[in-house]
Amino acid sequence: MRTKSQDDLWKARITGNGAVLLGKNVACDAHEPSRPVRVITHAHRDHISGLSQSLRECSWVLMTEATRDLLAVLRRKDLPRLANALGLKYGREFAFRGEVIRLLKAKHIIGAAQVLVEDEEGTRLLYTGDFKFPGTPVYEADVLVMEATYGRPSQVRDFEFEVEERLVELVESGLREGPVYIFSYHGKLQEIMQILVDGGVWAPFVLPKKVYEVARVCERYGMILGDYMPIWSQEARELVERGEPYVAFYHTSNYRRLRGREMAMRITVSGWEFSKPVREVRKGEYIVGLSDHADFEGLLAYVEECGPRLVITDNYRMGSGAVLAKEIRRRLGIPAVAMPSRTPVRRDLAEWL
Ligand SMILES: [Zn+2]
Repeated sequence: MRTKSQDDLWKARITGNGAVLLGKNVACDAHEPSRPVRVITHAHRDHISGLSQSLRECSWVLMTEATRDLLAVLRRKDLPRLANALGLKYGREFAFRGEVIRLLKAKHIIGAAQVLVEDEEGTRLLYTGDFKFPGTPVYEADVLVMEATYGRPSQVRDFEFEVEERLVELVESGLREGPVYIFSYHGKLQEIMQILVDGGVWAPFVLPKKVYEVARVCERYGMILGDYMPIWSQEARELVERGEPYVAFYHTSNYRRLRGREMAMRITVSGWEFSKPVREVRKGEYIVGLSDHADFEGLLAYVEECGPRLVITDNYRMGSGAVLAKEIRRRLGIPAVAMPSRTPVRRDLAEWL
């Protein structure tokens, strides 16, 4: 006889191109031609795959309002005007062919959401999207689909409580010598701005176009980002020419291009750092270990609190889905499987099926 878990398994899965399918209608974070509802959990590149196709073909493309505004800046100017692109408030119910879809808060970048689909049989299918934990609210679910960026037992950060303070200290010490350049991702750059403002950093912030536009969206949704200016403004040009201290914020992809520029310090903010909060790579170059993702222990803690009957780990995006699924089975005794997977799902779940 099929167990309840086995039935649940087929209500959620992750396809070979990274679409997280929940219930009968919803595809999250990649386009899936057979699904009329596309959900975008947040504006990061690996979660908006096939956006244009979804906008052309899906009945609805759902996201939070902040994500819609970010994507209008980063990808599609016309997004707010498209009739099928819907900005949903957190917690608002969206009913579609017998299923109820809700976007729930996730701590990651502004606008980030978890997705909960409740089907006609009352089965709750939850996809976390990218999230940090603690900080992300946990909801009960029958099937939990979760990110697995830091899914290896070694990927634990013991220094999270001090990293923000250390970042502020580092930036302040750099500013005593001249301009400080910070490299990270959209959304996280603005979070760093907020950390520096909270930490009392006095120097002005200079931003290139996209970072500036994303900052304006973040402010619209309540973030406090201090005294920032676009790099093309008269004020910023004068600052740069005079070599006065300022903090510049760039997307990581510009790291090499800006090598020759006059600066006192170059800081890359990355989650892929587990040894210590601040590491000097070479003179004047640092990596700061600030992450917007749960570490391994955070992922396990989330699963425990959620109490699902089945976990599916994301093995498509950069991460360790297979390792995490194995550790969830072993440590928590909950059926867990990585998808997409090269090994048959049934083998991983043999004990429970
Ligand atoms: Zn992300």
